[in-house]
Amino acid sequence: MRRVRKGRLAGHESVMPGVSAAPGVAAGVAVVLDRATGGRSGVVPRAKRAAEAERAGEALRLAAAELEKITADLRRDGRREEADIVETGVLMAMDPILTARVESLVVESGLPADYALRAGADQTAAELAEVADATLAQRADDVRSVGRRAAAHAQGTAREATEGVLVATSLGPADVAEWAPKAKGIALAAGGITAHAAIVARSLGLPMVIGVGPDLLQIADGEEVVVDGDRGVVVRRPDPERIALARNDAGRRRAAREIAIARRLEPAQTKDGRTIRVLANASTHAELREAAQQGAEGIGLLRSELLFLEAAAWPGFDEQVGVLRPVLSHLGGRAATVRLFDFGGDKTPPFLRDTTARGVEILLDAPGALRSQLAAIMAAGADAELRILVPMVTGAGQLQAVRRALDAVLDGRRRPQLGAMIETPEAALDANAIAKHADFLSIGTNDLTQLVLGLDREQSKTAPVTDVRVLRLIDATARAARSAGILVDVCGEAASDPKAMPILVGLGIDELSVAAARVGQVRQWVRELDFADCRRRSDELLGQSGHASRQRV
Ligand code: PEP
Ligand code: MG
Repeated sequence: MRRVRKGRLAGHESVMPGVSAAPGVAAGVAVVLDRATGGRSGVVPRAKRAAEAERAGEALRLAAAELEKITADLRRDGRREEADIVETGVLMAMDPILTARVESLVVESGLPADYALRAGADQTAAELAEVADATLAQRADDVRSVGRRAAAHAQGTAREATEGVLVATSLGPADVAEWAPKAKGIALAAGGITAHAAIVARSLGLPMVIGVGPDLLQIADGEEVVVDGDRGVVVRRPDPERIALARNDAGRRRAAREIAIARRLEPAQTKDGRTIRVLANASTHAELREAAQQGAEGIGLLRSELLFLEAAAWPGFDEQVGVLRPVLSHLGGRAATVRLFDFGGDKTPPFLRDTTARGVEILLDAPGALRSQLAAIMAAGADAELRILVPMVTGAGQLQAVRRALDAVLDGRRRPQLGAMIETPEAALDANAIAKHADFLSIGTNDLTQLVLGLDREQSKTAPVTDVRVLRLIDATARAARSAGILVDVCGEAASDPKAMPILVGLGIDELSVAAARVGQVRQWVRELDFADCRRRSDELLGQSGHASRQRV
C-alpha cells in the first residue's frame, strides 16, 4: 500500500505507479468509465431550460432506482454491509439539496442536464471534503459517483457492465458492487484507501490500484492492461509473461480461497510440528472479515496512517476511536496489532507536508498527538489481545519514550503489549537493545530490504529479501527476540512470498502477518513445509554451519 517510482520494465511495458487498495493481480481489457466528461456543451436556451431541468431530475430518479436495485441484489446475496453502503447512494440521489442545486444550475446558469448533474454533485462533494471528519469527507467520492451515474443517464451513455479492468478517475461503492461480477480489477486515477469503493473491492476480492494520477486516463477503452494490487501498479502494454502470471494469479486466488475457507480451523503447523501464527495485515472490517474466513488468528498489522492520509490536522481521540472500533470490536480475544501512525515519505497527509521525518520520529515531536492515539487505540481495542506497534524505530530510546507515553494514558487499565517495527538497518543492528524494551518485534521487510539494498522493492521482479545482507539482519533480529524471550513476526510482503516465507520460518520467525486475501494460502504453505528443511535452507543462505543452526531455535 504505497507509492512507487514511475518506470518501465522490459520491452514496451509501461508501469504506472499508484497505491495498492486491494490485493491480487488481474489482466484484462480496459473498460474506461468516465473519460468522456461532457455530452452536449454550450448554454441551454431559456425556453428549453424547464424541460432540461425535468430531464436532470428524471436522471437522478433513474440513478436512485438503479442504486436501489443494486442494494436489493446485495442484500439478497447476504452482503448486508455492502448493501448498507450502496443504500446511502440512494439517499444522496434523492437529496433535495442536490436536486435543487442541479435545477438551479440548469434553470439559472443554462447548463445542460449532464453537466449540471456532475457540477451539482461536485459542489456537494467539495463541501463534504471540507468537513474535518475523515469518514464524512470520504463520502465525497460517493456523491461524485452518484452525479456521474445520473449524468450518464441524462447523456444516454449509461453502459451495461462488460468484462474487463475498470479504469476511472474515481468510483463509488455502487459502481464497484454493480461491476464486480464482470470486473477483473480496478484502476483509479484518484481515490482513497478508505473510500468505500476500496472497501467494497477488498471485500469482494477485486485487485485494485488507486491514486495513479491523470495519466491513467490515457488508457484507451479495450486496451489490454494489468492491475497489480499487490505491488500497487498498473501496467500498460503488459508482456505475455506478465499477462500469463496475472491469469494464473486469478485462477490460483479462487482455488486457494476455497481450500483456505474449508481448512480454516486446521492449525498452521509444519509437517514436523512447528506452529506458526498467521495474522492479517488489515485496516478495515471488510479485510478482517475476509482474513477471519481464511483462518487468520488476528491482526498482525493495522496500518493506522492509511485511515488518515487525507487528514487536515492530527486526528482527534473520538475520530480515531470511531474508525478503529468497527474493526477492533470484531476481534474478541484475538490479537489486534495496531501500528502507530507511520506518517512521512509516501504517506504524508496534507498537514505534515513539510516534514522530512518518518514514523515514530514525527510522533515523538508531537507528544499530545501520540498520547491521543495511544488512548484511542486502548479505548477501541479494549476487548482484544491488544498490541501496539511503533514504526520506523531507529533506537531503543524511542521505544522507551513511547512506553512512558503509554504509561501516562493507562489510567489503571491492563497495559497492551508494545512492539517495535524492525525495518531500518539501524534498528536491526541495535535489535538486542531494542528487544530488551519491547514485548515483541515485527520485521518490516518492505522498508528493510529497500533501505539495506537501495532497491525499489515494488519494481523488482526478484525477492531481494533473500539477499544475504538482508537475511543477516533478519537473523540478528530473530536471535535478539529469542534472547529476550519475546516473539518476532514478519509483517512485510516477504511473509507471503512463496520463496522468502520458508526461509523466514527457517530463521525462527514465530508469526507471519500477510494481506487478508493471502491468509489461507500462507497457512496452507506452512502445512506443506518441513521446518528442518527450512532451517537447512536458511543456514545455507547465511553461509552458516549446521551446528550453529541447531542452537538457533
Ligand atoms: C514494511 O516496511 O515491511 C511494513 C510492513 O511497513 P509498510 O509497508 O507499511 O511501510
Ligand atoms: Mg515500513
